[in-house]
Amino acid sequence: MQLSIFAAVMKRFYFTPGPSQLYFTVEEHIKSALRENIPAISHRSNSFQDIFGSATQLLKQLFSLPSGYHIFFTGSATEIWERSIQNLVEFESCHFVNGAFSRRYAGIAENLNKKTTMINADEGKVVDIESVLIPESCELIAMTQNETSTGASHAVEDVKKIREGFPDQLLSLDVVSCAPYANIDYSMVDMAYLSVQKCFGLPAGLGVWIVNDRCINKSEELLSKGLSIGSYHSLPELMLKAQKNQTPETPNVLGIYLLGKVAEDMLTKGLDMIRRETDYKAAVLYNAFEQSKLLEPFVKEKINRSKTTLVAETSVASSEILDKTVQKGMVIGNGYGPFKGKHIRIANFPTHSKEQIESLADELLKIGDQ
Ligand SMILES: *Cc1c(COP(=O)(O)O)cnc(C)c1O
Repeated sequence: MQLSIFAAVMKRFYFTPGPSQLYFTVEEHIKSALRENIPAISHRSNSFQDIFGSATQLLKQLFSLPSGYHIFFTGSATEIWERSIQNLVEFESCHFVNGAFSRRYAGIAENLNKKTTMINADEGKVVDIESVLIPESCELIAMTQNETSTGASHAVEDVKKIREGFPDQLLSLDVVSCAPYANIDYSMVDMAYLSVQKCFGLPAGLGVWIVNDRCINKSEELLSKGLSIGSYHSLPELMLKAQKNQTPETPNVLGIYLLGKVAEDMLTKGLDMIRRETDYKAAVLYNAFEQSKLLEPFVKEKINRSKTTLVAETSVASSEILDKTVQKGMVIGNGYGPFKGKHIRIANFPTHSKEQIESLADELLKIGDQ
């Protein structure tokens, strides 16, 4: 046996809310990809068209997308923020802001010189749908289903109410840190998006953009008015290539291959099972937050507590808790932005098993008892 300087370092297991621990099948899929030499193939080859076609078909199945919905790939969810404003907003967008990620989307709309309305909720809460005032003149309404920075999550019912109240606006839904757990009827929204390093447990560097024909039409309308909607990742360009199971640029071929494989694994396991397990594991963790002397759930409204990215306020510096869990080989997240040092954040993604979440919860309780 070989001894190395790393021998003393335990292999760490990641409960951070993205990137996180890889989905448990990914290592084998990477090995198969290397055996088949997937990273070397041309993005104009038949092999790539098969990979693209299969990944998009499996995702459409996983999300139960109705007809008239398309899937495109980008570099990240951040890129989709920019592309969606360029392609879908001529003058004005409206953003529900309940934390750092939703605020960033609004910031990008401002960067692109759009009139940007922000509807703010206090941190740890979501916008109250019953009392919300949205300007009729806005072209796109942006909601964040699960705000990863605070752990505040909209009830799925909220999206439905906004859809019913605002049929003329385009509705954009961030499902980055909750898909495919969140049980969304995608026919309610015009676009939705995610990046793969959250619940799908894949290496970062790939965004998934779901859009319907209304979005394609809007981008073509802006283009025909002579406005700039960007270049290679404009919706008409993405659509033109996707019809041939291709991408405009040389894409993250390995990432698309792995995403197709993981989507297939999740379909085999079944979304019902994934959802039931997620609910159970979330209950175990929130129970630990409530039992521990050092922790308290940050989101007070139970219905808005995220099941996939759980946030607790800490009564000691959060680094004390982070350090102790790391000693056991478990890496959890620090508070986001202004909450660094004051919160811990824990990912409860499909790759995190019941046993692993139970041991983490036990460890959190032990730390509180010391
Ligand atoms: C992580 C995250 C993003 C940004 O994803 P990138 O892959 O970094 O672009 C956007 N929205 C939410 C809710 C997120 O959690």
